[in-house]
This record gives sequence, structure tokens and C-alpha cells, in this order.
Amino acid sequence: MSTLKSLSALCRAPALTRDLRSLARRKYSTLAEDVRSDSTFRIPLIDFSAFRTATSLSEKRRIADDIVNGFKEVGFVYLTGHGIAGDTIDNVYKKSASFFSLPSEIKEQVPWDDPRANRGYVKVGRERVTQSSDAAEIAALRAKAPDTKESMEIGRDWDPVWKNKWPKESDAPGFKQTMLQFFQTCHELHTVVMRSIALGLDLDEAFFDRKIDQQYHNLRLLSYPSIRTKLLSKEGQARAGAHSDYGTLTLLFQDSVGGLEVQNPHTKQYQPAPPIPGSIVINAGDLLARWSNDVLRSTLHRVVAPPARKVSDTEGITPARQSIAFFCNPNFDAAIESLPTCVSATNPSKYTSVTTEEYIVGRLEATYT
Ligand code: CA
Repeated sequence: MSTLKSLSALCRAPALTRDLRSLARRKYSTLAEDVRSDSTFRIPLIDFSAFRTATSLSEKRRIADDIVNGFKEVGFVYLTGHGIAGDTIDNVYKKSASFFSLPSEIKEQVPWDDPRANRGYVKVGRERVTQSSDAAEIAALRAKAPDTKESMEIGRDWDPVWKNKWPKESDAPGFKQTMLQFFQTCHELHTVVMRSIALGLDLDEAFFDRKIDQQYHNLRLLSYPSIRTKLLSKEGQARAGAHSDYGTLTLLFQDSVGGLEVQNPHTKQYQPAPPIPGSIVINAGDLLARWSNDVLRSTLHRVVAPPARKVSDTEGITPARQSIAFFCNPNFDAAIESLPTCVSATNPSKYTSVTTEEYIVGRLEATYT
């Protein structure tokens, strides 16, 4: 086993000679399979501007195919040419940082308190994202290894039932207006990327339009405070544990500190997804995977701490990090059933129909207490 492991590590080294690779292939056929998959596992970088400005369907189709291939093979893409100005994103970061720098008692005036609402401020350690849907197991995990982060969750602002929890304008000047505008901007990008997915899956370009137009999305501002390395390296603890997302797509705006790692589904190993300036990381969520009858992939990912700054012989401090994620969802009453072009005689539908609401609320209730 240990020989297998070290051979496998060697085979991932870029300097590996062809001889050794073919030796490994001959001796361990399953290992060779992993080596091939590993070397081709790359998050594609896609310039989306051609799709947004294309005048012909064939031009659009070319980008659409790249997008769909990225979600089929990796589940993640880096998108440039997305049309969201750098200044816009910088300003959202600034307002987010100002909010998190407020005293706890101010932030706690707008607490997250209901998974159906999924709005408000979440204290460090409250959420433990996991793949488990068993509430007892999640509670045990949370006690053992709280996530070291705080977040602010924002939903559609006109919801008749659930109200956003805005800090007072005097506490956070411009926060509400900035976030509302950004929410709309992200919604519009989601719509266009979903059009590219429709085209890439041989559906009508507008297939998803009426199923995703009610903006049941969630804008999450995240702050990972700087933390003592000892605390962070405790067993089972990372800045965000391994998880997949729930909805259609997640738009992730990483800061320069990074820390995102994506699991290669073939080898189960995590590979860094370093920040690329000007790009947005987009990944497919579980609901889109289900909608596509698993033609598109919802990939496990996690956030790990960046390298620590040494403060003594035994202690280090990892830098603070921010990120902004926009979790996109279909309309809550949309029936999610296998897309017609993703079902065939040889690939029958694996899933029963479910509404977005049934699905998402079930997942959220298990994740929070
Ligand atoms: Ca995520």
C-alpha cells in the first residue's frame, strides 16, 4: 500500500519520466487511470465576453460548449470577460469589510435566525457546512470543529415573507444600496451563464429564463478573521469544511489571499484554485447537477488557511481573508426534473421531480441549528 501511495505521489510530479509512467501503468492499471485523470483535471479559464457580445448563434455556441464541458468535467470554471467591473467588486469588498469591522453588539442586532429566511449575520462557529444531512452528526461535528468565520447573508429584498436584515445606515453607510445593486448585477450574470448552459446542453437558449427569474438567490459576505495557527490546525478544522453547494451556480469572488481547494473527483485529492485577478470562479451546485441528471458535476470543495506568519517558535498567525459568494437558485416553485436532453434510453432519469424550495430548505435545516 505504501509503495502504491508513493508511486502515486511520484506520478503526479511534473518531472516524472515517461518510462516510470508507463511502468506504473503496466503494474497498476487502476493507478494509471488516476494518473491520466489527475493530469487532465484543470479548472478551465473561459473568456465569456464573446458570448455576451456574440451576434451569431454559432459564435455563442462555441463558448457555451466550453462552459458546459467545464461543468461536465470539473464542475468549476474561471470566468473572465463577465462584464462586472473591477471597481464594483472592490467597492462591495470595502463595504463588506466595514460591516465586519463593526462591534459584535451592532452586528448581532441583525442575527441570522431562520433557515427559511437565510438572512442576517452569522457568528463565527455557527455554521458547519458538511455533506451530512444528519442533524445529530452535524451538531457533533460543529462542537468539535467550529468553522472559523463570520458571514452576512442577503436575500431578495422584496420577499413578502422574509425580510433582509440591514444594519442601520448610520452604522454602515452605503452598505444596503451597494449590496442591493450587486445582488441585481449577479442575478443578471447568472441568467446569461444559464443561457450558455442551455445552449451547450442543446436546449433552447431561453430554456431556464422563466425558471430562474424570481431571484431566490443568496448573497453571502464572508470574513475569515486572522487566527492562531494552533487553533486552525486542530483535527477536522479548516476555514470551511469540504462541501458542495446547493443551487444552480455559485459565483465566487475571491480575494488575493485565496485558500479555495477543489476536489478532483477521479483521485479524491484536493487541488488549489488560486485567485486569478479579474476572474470569477463559478461552480455548479447540487440542484443543477440533479437537473442535468448528473451530466453536469457538483464538485466538493473547501477553504483552507493560507500559510501562516510566524510570531514565535511555536505559534503562527494566518492572515485574514474575505470572500463574496453569490449562491444562485431557480424559482422556489420551479419543478426540477431531469432535462430532456440529459435523459436517454441508456441514461434514464435518476431523480424524481422536486421543487427548489423543498430541496434547499431541507439542506439548510440540516446545516444550521
Ligand atoms: Ca461553496
